[in-house]
Amino acid sequence: MPRFAANSRCECQAHLTAIVDENHHVIEGSARRHGVKEGAPAHAINPAQERFDIGWLCPFCGRNTLRSFHKDALQRLADVASA
Ligand SMILES: [Zn+2]
Repeated sequence: MPRFAANSRCECQAHLTAIVDENHHVIEGSARRHGVKEGAPAHAINPAQERFDIGWLCPFCGRNTLRSFHKDALQRLADVASA
């Protein structure tokens, strides 16, 4: 199954990443700052639409960071074999 990455940046300069499936549902969220990687709770809003939002809870500063993505702007990752 295809996997996609949505990347953005928090106000605190942490680099936010969400791995989503083809339905734009978040599989895993993470944040990285100064070489430290932490898990970041993330969820998609209106994932069925071409343009949808992903919200992260940044583990470094505690902000809720909301970013809009167009489905065509997602970075496609290597396909993952379905179980
Ligand atoms: Zn932050």
